[in-house]
Amino acid sequence: MTALTESTEIFAFEPGYARLPERSFARIQPTPVAAPQLIRVNKNLAEHLGLDPEKLASTEGVEMLAGNRTAASGDALAMAYAGHQFGQFVPQLGDGRAILLGEVTDRAGMKREIQLKGAGPTPFSRRGDGRAALGPVLREYVVSETMAALGIPTTRALAAVTTGEYVMRDRPLPGAVLTRVAASHIRVGTFQFFAARGDGEGIKLLADYVIARHYPDAVGAANPYAALFDMIVARQADLIAQWMLVGFIHGVMNTDNMTVSGETIDYGPCAFMDAYHAGTVYSSIDARGRYAFSNQPAMAHWNLTRLAESLLPLFSADEDAAVKTAQSVLDRFPARFEASYSAGLCRKLGLLTPRPDDTALALDLLERMDRNNADFTLTFRGLGDLALAPDESAVGDLFADRKDFDAWAVRWRQRLAEGGGDPQARRAAMHAVNPAFIPRNHLVEEMIVAAVDNGSFQPFEQLLAVLSRPYEDQPAFSRYANPPQPHEIVHQTFCGT
Ligand code: AMP
Ligand code: MG
Repeated sequence: MTALTESTEIFAFEPGYARLPERSFARIQPTPVAAPQLIRVNKNLAEHLGLDPEKLASTEGVEMLAGNRTAASGDALAMAYAGHQFGQFVPQLGDGRAILLGEVTDRAGMKREIQLKGAGPTPFSRRGDGRAALGPVLREYVVSETMAALGIPTTRALAAVTTGEYVMRDRPLPGAVLTRVAASHIRVGTFQFFAARGDGEGIKLLADYVIARHYPDAVGAANPYAALFDMIVARQADLIAQWMLVGFIHGVMNTDNMTVSGETIDYGPCAFMDAYHAGTVYSSIDARGRYAFSNQPAMAHWNLTRLAESLLPLFSADEDAAVKTAQSVLDRFPARFEASYSAGLCRKLGLLTPRPDDTALALDLLERMDRNNADFTLTFRGLGDLALAPDESAVGDLFADRKDFDAWAVRWRQRLAEGGGDPQARRAAMHAVNPAFIPRNHLVEEMIVAAVDNGSFQPFEQLLAVLSRPYEDQPAFSRYANPPQPHEIVHQTFCGT
């Protein structure tokens, strides 16, 4: 007699990207690893995805998260894509170390892809080993989850495991696998992949897939593909504005690292600024500052122009008309970004009914911060408290020359007074958009060193816990709010692939 065993099915995958033509991807299973061990399951996210966090953390679950066990459902695959890397077009990139397991529908009814990053070689690995080192996995986990807690669209981290194997980088490093969740992993570079091959049918199928999945409102438009492009542009303008409003620098805004869904993706040498300087660059591979903080809107616009080039045949059969359509949509990007950014800056200053001259007031503050090496996060957070208690010193102390801040603060106070409103409510509104906590680079580094060199994941857990509530004052954790001491400043970040 056969005993009935309880179903150990961890993921019940639905058909997803594999419905696209075979030339869009390569079917491939993860390569098993020596000795998988769980670092963490993201319980809240698991539940939101309708998954059982306990099953995920079980022996079978960890085997699945490490790529040692194949899901009964789903079509494991590596996606093909192309992309401009630092301005140079590479016609063949693709998931070189990420394998899409399948997708699930979350509690909000949204489809979400589940992918293992670091799961072994694929046909797109080129010279890479298909693996991920522990440090970058923990960095992506912490930074992407912070972005989510900040309310910024992003891929998420469902789990992380160590592999019990070493990966060879500049030295041998412990390997890990990240389970990444995304609305989809379709990138600007996915469209470029088909465009580079003159595959008009592929572009159309992909565009239809993206409309159905992310932009259903485009269906009823006079020109659905132009509407699709317009909506992608709008979401990117908002996304970049949100990055800029918290001091986030992506670091590698190549077209293969920009989604069409509007989620932030591919956390490599990313960083949050400590002191505000518009030209800040952290990435060791960005020698010319192409992806410097203040260049991000222009780079997004550049990437969207590459997307437009790929979509042209869909806009109109007449080439001139297609170019006109593309140009008119692209031309709206700067104003869209500015509107979103300015509105956000006004909220950060507590100006809840903005006036046209408010943006200049905000930009003036940023210039003063830049000259005075003022901490971006603490300055804005401090303004919220100042809105309530008129003691300028707390914020002024962040400026090399506090008089430079004081002079600005006089004008700001005057503007607040003209606007009226309840100071308590204003502070609450400001604190809801000005985080107290960001993943400070020195803390991220410290957390990585503890895990990689000492096998201690306590700093990782602690950092995540604090950053899961970035807008709340957590006096017991003031260490996590403080800027680095001069000797702690991180000047460069690395891709770590
Ligand atoms: P990234 O700069 O991380 O966006 O990666 C650019 C390309 O390199 C992507 O196609 C990745 O899949 C690929 N890649 C990065 N690291 C590895 C690796 N360790 N093994 C294979 N491919 C990789
Ligand atoms: Mg990438």
